[in-house]
Amino acid sequence: MHPNTSSLSRRDALRYLGLAGAAALLPAFATRTGAAETATAAVSGPTALPDLAGEQPGYCRFKIGDFDAVALDDGGFGGPLDQAPWPKADRAQLTAALAGAFLPTDRFSLPFNVLLVRMGTELVLVDTGCGPLYGPTNGKLRQRLAAIGVQPEQITAVFLTHAHGDHFGGLLDPDTKTPVFARAQHFIHRREFEFWTGSAPDLSTSGVPVEARAAAIARAQEYLNALRSRWQFIGPGDRLLDGLEILDAPGHTPGHIALQFSSGNAQLLHFVDTLHHHAISFAHPDIPIAFDVQPELGSVTRRRLLDRAAADRTRLFGAHMPFPALGHVRKVGKGYEHVIEPWPAL
Ligand SMILES: [Zn+2]
Repeated sequence: MHPNTSSLSRRDALRYLGLAGAAALLPAFATRTGAAETATAAVSGPTALPDLAGEQPGYCRFKIGDFDAVALDDGGFGGPLDQAPWPKADRAQLTAALAGAFLPTDRFSLPFNVLLVRMGTELVLVDTGCGPLYGPTNGKLRQRLAAIGVQPEQITAVFLTHAHGDHFGGLLDPDTKTPVFARAQHFIHRREFEFWTGSAPDLSTSGVPVEARAAAIARAQEYLNALRSRWQFIGPGDRLLDGLEILDAPGHTPGHIALQFSSGNAQLLHFVDTLHHHAISFAHPDIPIAFDVQPELGSVTRRRLLDRAAADRTRLFGAHMPFPALGHVRKVGKGYEHVIEPWPAL
């Protein structure tokens, strides 16, 4: 492979975008061809075969019009179906939805995805993954950013979509407890901040076990208060950064937001945690996940966003969809179907 392939393609891409002059200012996203060259160099002899061990790349680049976007894999969790976080579903509903998607019917899994979007000179991060909160198989965001050549200090805007640990855990350095994205503006819906940091956040309508509620609240308060002087409050209908609209998506939490990116005719709706499983949540939009603070409102929000996205044929991204978390939705009977987008060619 020609050693300059990746730099040539990057320069060509920037020229195509009219960004050649900005190339020196912005981090280069590493390419998959770059990773392949490294792997090839490690093979020592003509008969040696790679053992196929090692990390998956964990990132996937795609375009939203003129914007460069990257899906970043932060980890995920899963387990036996008896421990799945849909306590109001009966097992037959869950197994039928899983079987319909050709998935094992005795287990569940939920990936964690973070979205990075380069909008002109802005590098926008939507959520920050788990950080250190859920063990060594999670919290991979920083290594993913390093793999695409992005330093945390180069992020210019961080949107926290809601105050759950798999979204805010990467905000603070685990050792120093200082902001990881030190130069970024930090945004949160005012209603979300006020719910968690108010005098009595109420999780009694959620499916979170009683014994786990106080810890979830304390952790949210710790992270939100650590950045108290930095938060810039946003609300539904706000249009920011020349191509981003904040959408109200309450129910999962009171101030949970979705984000709509627009560039030219291209759009991407990041629905975040409006839905959690590509088979279960789309087929059964009225089944709340245990973490939904307002389950009935969550169902209303799910149907509202999905009806609009199905009618408009909107391209979707979700925090817990199968990597790289892109797809579309169509209506099927009383529910919906998630149509997964294949790994995109650039
Ligand atoms: Zn989540």
